[in-house]
Amino acid sequence: MKFRSTRNVTAQATTAPEAIIQGLAEDGGLFVPVAFPQPNYDLASLIQQPYQLIAKQVLRWFFNELSGLDVAVTKAYGSQWDTPTITPLTKQVAGNYYLELFHGPTLAFKDVALQALPQLMGLAKQQVHNQNETIILTATSGDTGTAALRGFQNVVGTQVVVFYPQDGISPIQKLQMLGQTGNNLHVVGIKGNFDQAQTRVKQIFNDPQVRQHLAQQKQQFSSANSMNIGRLIPQITYYFAAYGQLVHQGAIKVGDKITFSVPTGNFGDILAGYYAKKLGLPIHKLICASNVNHVLTDFFQTGTYDRQREFQVTNAPSMDILVSSNLERLLFDAYHQDAEAINKLMQQLQSQGYYQVTPQVHEWLSQTFAAGYANPDQVEAEIQRVYEQANYLIDPHTAVGSFVTHQYQTQTNDHHPCVILATASPYKFPETVLGAINSQAKNPSGLAAIEALAKFDSSSLTAGVKELFADQPHSQLTIAPTEMTNTVLNLV
Ligand SMILES: *Cc1c(COP(=O)(O)O)cnc(C)c1O
Repeated sequence: MKFRSTRNVTAQATTAPEAIIQGLAEDGGLFVPVAFPQPNYDLASLIQQPYQLIAKQVLRWFFNELSGLDVAVTKAYGSQWDTPTITPLTKQVAGNYYLELFHGPTLAFKDVALQALPQLMGLAKQQVHNQNETIILTATSGDTGTAALRGFQNVVGTQVVVFYPQDGISPIQKLQMLGQTGNNLHVVGIKGNFDQAQTRVKQIFNDPQVRQHLAQQKQQFSSANSMNIGRLIPQITYYFAAYGQLVHQGAIKVGDKITFSVPTGNFGDILAGYYAKKLGLPIHKLICASNVNHVLTDFFQTGTYDRQREFQVTNAPSMDILVSSNLERLLFDAYHQDAEAINKLMQQLQSQGYYQVTPQVHEWLSQTFAAGYANPDQVEAEIQRVYEQANYLIDPHTAVGSFVTHQYQTQTNDHHPCVILATASPYKFPETVLGAINSQAKNPSGLAAIEALAKFDSSSLTAGVKELFADQPHSQLTIAPTEMTNTVLNLV
């Protein structure tokens, strides 16, 4: 299995280890399979397996060249998870299911991929005898940063530099991120938003002078964002695992179609769902749920992607994004692997701030994707609604998915069972959750909010939540986006 960049017109192939090590293609495009796997397998027997075995199978479809996948998966999905099912499915409200993706060490779904990526990167480096030090350069809207720091903590031959928007993340996210310890970790706040951080990171990544400077020191960049194919592929697993749990619970028969609803930011999570569908998982629709930064909702509804609008800081901060990187991988399929067409669209997005897809492409997208968005008040109302109906706490990102699903089901006739991806623990955003269910009182923030929230919860606090109380945030560095390049060079 070889990979190629979405922007390379000669379709030049890269091996799996190289694609994972590089993270982002040099031309600014994203790595995708040259020929998407079309495996011959028995769905019924695959989905009844434990999570780890499904993960091994999925990884083998894409990264069969990497030797040592079995050990990598065993390490990635071991006792650092607070449940052996890894991603448990809970039935809650009105026929919809919540797939809890937050049982890893940093309480958000990013752990599913970022517990695996360091393992995969280690195998990749070993396999191609790459002895460079890897500099993981990452922009975060809050959750990727912490999960990357945790995943790569003390990994030999690796340093991690994380940039986060200083005023764009929640108090607990900040506590968690600044509380990570390791001899190879750097965390930097920027006076700007996530898009500015992500754009700069992409620029630094592909700056020939910076690359050369690093090469002289036997260092090279890689990415822990969902732009890295090694992070994206492990996420396919839980779509299969969720389907298996529905079959196991007797809610569906093998072969029945289901719908997934995905709280979306950078379009990584939902793209993994689309890949699952391409691999033969019976998916009816993928619902792309956004917050008020609803560029994607507009895109799926009109066929025009327009980032020219004000960036809004919301109560679902990990989805505060106007330029969703992974959409490029979907467009690449939509345009039948025409890299020239992708280049044109991406250039236009950069220079003019928008692009429009052809009517045929728009129609093709509508066959698989539905879209909608929730504003901050609707997010709070949804948290309250679900709590009152089912005594179940959901986080603001999950609430976006839940609200949009509810709206979609009212507007359409889609009665397929729907799995809503629960992307973060409610304890990661306790102020918002508490405010939603306890609107009369004056509510605390940070750790005190966690304690207050726990009183509303029938289940006991997980180890990951308890760990927050032990975090000792270290002092923080804050810079302007223009200083990012120099800061990287100074830190590493
Ligand atoms: C990152 C994140 C999202 C968005 O996922 P994408 O893959 O960027 O679309 C949604 N919810 C939470 C809690 C996240 O951390």
